Amino acid sequence: MSDLRPLLEDITDRIYREADWGQPAQYIRELAEVDPSQFAICVCTEDGRMISAGLAERRFSIQSVSKVFALMATLGRIGGQLWSRVGREPSGTSFDSVVLLESERGRPRNPFVNAGALVTTDALLSGREPKLALAEVLSLVRAAAEDDDIHMNAKVAKSEERTGSRNKALAHYLASFGNLINPPEMTLGTYFHQCAIEMTTSQLARAGRCLAGFEGAPSVVSTLNVRRVNALMMTCGHYDGSGDFAFQVGLPGKSGVGGGILIIAPKVASIAIWSPGLNDYGNSKAGTRAAALLSQATGWSVF
Ligand code: GLU
Repeated sequence: MSDLRPLLEDITDRIYREADWGQPAQYIRELAEVDPSQFAICVCTEDGRMISAGLAERRFSIQSVSKVFALMATLGRIGGQLWSRVGREPSGTSFDSVVLLESERGRPRNPFVNAGALVTTDALLSGREPKLALAEVLSLVRAAAEDDDIHMNAKVAKSEERTGSRNKALAHYLASFGNLINPPEMTLGTYFHQCAIEMTTSQLARAGRCLAGFEGAPSVVSTLNVRRVNALMMTCGHYDGSGDFAFQVGLPGKSGVGGGILIIAPKVASIAIWSPGLNDYGNSKAGTRAAALLSQATGWSVF
């Protein structure tokens, strides 16, 4: 694919023309205030090129895209032990749903729904100070992007701490089944801070190279875990919109309520897209549309 730049510019123009933005996440005040009519896309290719269009240097809150990096860190630290506490199946429920936890005795369906991410972060903590676990996630992200100018926004974390009743309910419910090792407030605080990592769209695309299996990409994750994390992104990365994302885009991806999406075309490209307005599943509305346009135009698909 030699002519990526005009394609990315075309997609960006089209997204602004369609102006079908959706609404930013309302339950975190800092995110609710973000202007939804913004868009960025960046593609890093196997041959080392980085092509972007739109507001690719603007920082945004990566929110649940951080679950990918926390999962890589946790698998690196405790390996397959994680799977005794978290499943690997799509949930078919919303990102913050509590419904399956009761019938499945506190074992969340996968590490990308909030309950599963809380257990993953809890495992990463494994009795350590939250700041050590957070430093581990942040240094993994920085190493993957080869960029130290990536930080957590404490204001966003505090804002979610004030209003995140759903997550608090999930954490206490998990604790009631004995599936949290640390005090729920400690796991929650760590999780909120992890979600509050801010990156630009370019930085996120660069960080994704480690999952695209590029030769020469920073080695922050094993080859086996690259396959596994991609499989989970494909089946669970967009919550109850995962099937539709696979249908429309055909590539593994992980979304966040800050409007970011990280998408992997194995051995071909690492793609990041950002637009803060969300669809009914809590995934970026214009971002999902742009991902579909990109995969249609390039033919990139794992199928
Ligand atoms: N921090 C958000 C929450 O836990 C992340 C959700 C998301 O990005 O999908 O509700």
